[in-house]
Amino acid sequence: MTSFRTLDDLGEAGGKRALVRVDFNVPMADGAVSDDTRLRAAIPTIAELSDKGAIVLLLAHFGRPKGAADPSLSLAQLTQPLSHLVGRPVTFVPDCVGEDASAMIDQLSAGDIAILENTRFHAGETRNDAALADGMAALGDFYVNDAFSAAHRAHVTTEGLAHHLPAYAGRAMQAELDALETALGNPEHPVAAVVGGAKVSTKLAVLEHLVTKVDHLIIGGGMANTFLAARGVDVGKSLCEHDLADTAGRILEAADAADCTVHLPYDVVVAKEFTANPPIRTVNVHEVASDEMILDIGPSAVEALADVLKTCRTLVWNGPLGAFETPPFDTATVALAQTAAALTREGSLVSVAGGGDTVAALNHAGVADDFSFISTAGGAFLEWMEGKELPGVKALERTG
Ligand code: ADP
Ligand code: MG
Repeated sequence: MTSFRTLDDLGEAGGKRALVRVDFNVPMADGAVSDDTRLRAAIPTIAELSDKGAIVLLLAHFGRPKGAADPSLSLAQLTQPLSHLVGRPVTFVPDCVGEDASAMIDQLSAGDIAILENTRFHAGETRNDAALADGMAALGDFYVNDAFSAAHRAHVTTEGLAHHLPAYAGRAMQAELDALETALGNPEHPVAAVVGGAKVSTKLAVLEHLVTKVDHLIIGGGMANTFLAARGVDVGKSLCEHDLADTAGRILEAADAADCTVHLPYDVVVAKEFTANPPIRTVNVHEVASDEMILDIGPSAVEALADVLKTCRTLVWNGPLGAFETPPFDTATVALAQTAAALTREGSLVSVAGGGDTVAALNHAGVADDFSFISTAGGAFLEWMEGKELPGVKALERTG
């Protein structure tokens, strides 16, 4: 049972104007969309609303225009790519508030789809300005938020509008919230978390939250070095935040108190230089030489972690286990990802992953389609991993 309204709760939508917040912040190269993942993610909601006869008015930000119109950041350039993907005509409305926009919207009919101009052309958007929210709300009969990736921001189109109009989660938002709830809100135990990546300092809040939630905390990547060093291991020239030794120690104590088993690697892959395919050694963590860097966790560690995953029902993963962009330091990440994918296919594991580099690493491992859910939400995903309440999600909660 979801605690937020979805399109299932919409009722009769024919002829009604739907203000739909989407994430259209797509990368561009030479004037063309170079990755249309975000456009595609919004299609189910757009098509469903259009099929129901709603007038679909899409709201999105694009780039960082700093509260003023910037023609190079106009959403007009997404009209054709979206029309192509959704297979229906898409109109462009050159503002997202005001009389001209209102007059154009009045010309639209049931089922029509329009993109409204970049919401960040108005400074009030990121300030969550009440007057802007009033003005925008006047253009619609109800509000749909389908942009989980922007839900950690309290802006007019991610939060404010939900207080002015009946508010619903779109299908992409719903899928994301359901997956996150299954993975960490109300998961089947045992739960394992993999936390990797470069630095402890960027994920302190994540680690602190996870030790209270999961049964197994698997630490890899550069951040494992900080934990190993805190335990007295000489990590040589490895990336390591020595000043966080006390913090790492406190996290280990908190894990102990919460009955969370922390898994640090006991073997690692080291090199003297950080380039592609340099001479490497696989050694016990106590055998790292002073001129060597730990760039991946070792094969024995991966085997032990695979055994841990086999005992678990739920996995949440953020951060690669090694410097995966540079071969062969992708080996552990790829191997453990493939184990998780196989367990997910067999139905014994629910696997949810997110994070910019994590998504790239899992794509590289070829497992993106096998995980139960992969979030592309970046910042919002991390804040959710920290146990924070996201304003855009809170605003969608059912109050009665
Ligand atoms: P995400 O974007 O998924 O949250 P992070 O940004 O925290 O992940 O971390 C990803 C980065 O961590 C990658 O660029 C990877 O090369 C780096 N990394 C992982 N392990 C190591 C290591 N042992 N030494 C140096 N860098 C590492
Ligand atoms: Mg990153």
